[in-house]
Amino acid sequence: MAETFLSIQNVRKAFGATTVVQDFNLDVERGEFVSFLGPSGCGKTTMLRIVAGFEEPSAGMVMVGGKDVTNLKPNQRDIGMVFQAYALFPNLTVAQNIGFGLKVAGVPRAESDARVAEMLSIIKLPEFGSRYPYQLSGGQQQRVALARALAPRPKLLLLDEPLSALDAKVRVSLREEIRGIQKKLGITTIFVTHDQEEALSMSDRIVVMYGGKAEQVGTPFEIYNKPATRFVASFVGTLNILEGTVSDPASGTVRVNGSEIALKRKLDGKAAGDEISLALRPEAISVGDHPGRDASIAGEISDVSFLGSVIRVRVGVGKNAVSLDTFNSPATPPPVVGETANITFAASDLLVLQ
Ligand code: ATP
Repeated sequence: MAETFLSIQNVRKAFGATTVVQDFNLDVERGEFVSFLGPSGCGKTTMLRIVAGFEEPSAGMVMVGGKDVTNLKPNQRDIGMVFQAYALFPNLTVAQNIGFGLKVAGVPRAESDARVAEMLSIIKLPEFGSRYPYQLSGGQQQRVALARALAPRPKLLLLDEPLSALDAKVRVSLREEIRGIQKKLGITTIFVTHDQEEALSMSDRIVVMYGGKAEQVGTPFEIYNKPATRFVASFVGTLNILEGTVSDPASGTVRVNGSEIALKRKLDGKAAGDEISLALRPEAISVGDHPGRDASIAGEISDVSFLGSVIRVRVGVGKNAVSLDTFNSPATPPPVVGETANITFAASDLLVLQ
């Protein structure tokens, strides 16, 4: 069975009268990469700082390796941390930056030099030891910041939006690099981000946070395909919302823009005639018939954008509109604005929003 390495239990944090984190519970396995994902102000940095020991929780407990660390100072917790701003020491070389924590810990010179060389090689900057931070690109500086955090071989790596100051291309390549290094070292990692793509592509599991609470904890696949709340469904990925009414809650039949759709799921807490919000991911919808997609609703093409490999189509469905991408095929002419067209999908792909 997997071993819990970090355990956050019933944590609450208030600043004065304002509660910014509440009812927070999470068990992270050894070696796991877990992201805290949420909009600005949802409490993700505060929760990370509580794990790091920079903030004291108002209630609750943090355990690392089975030990209660709630009252330990950051430097007693055996953590490595990387922040958004590069925060390298400008007057120290790359090698001195990476070796900084080792020096503080009194690691003998020879061992420290060997570890710095190893870290330089892990971050793929073996020749950069004698450079100064100002001689590095933003992406290189963040790799050095990562190496500096990892050199003392911490038990836990905490990353606070480490990619958000970088330009898009570097961000994507660093994502893969950080994840590769994390896997190679097997270090348990918490990664704070407001970027859903980062969280989806890097994480073993994601904690989606909203209003200081964990809305859902799950694998990227679960979070995207089985969002537990309306907030998660709309924050992660593109969502097409369809408003309908319940026809029969027991069999799960709903009516959307004149079409009866059998969800084949009991609609708990709903009565016939109730309004219901349903949602579909763009990739779950086609225009016209599609094998395996058993439900359809009448609509009208309202917009067509030719993007090269795909054609983005918007279809009005009663008072709602859905967006979908179809692959470009030179043999098939694209849909035309104003045409009537059924949208087709698998009823099992319809999400019921709570
Ligand atoms: P961002 O992505 O913008 O950093 P976040 O999700 O990380 O957002 P936090 O930084 O954890 O959010 O902040 C959560 C809330 O707590 C915010 O409303 C913030 O203003 C408040 N807050 C954070 N630190 C303090 C503090 N030291 N004193 C008072 N309020 C604080």
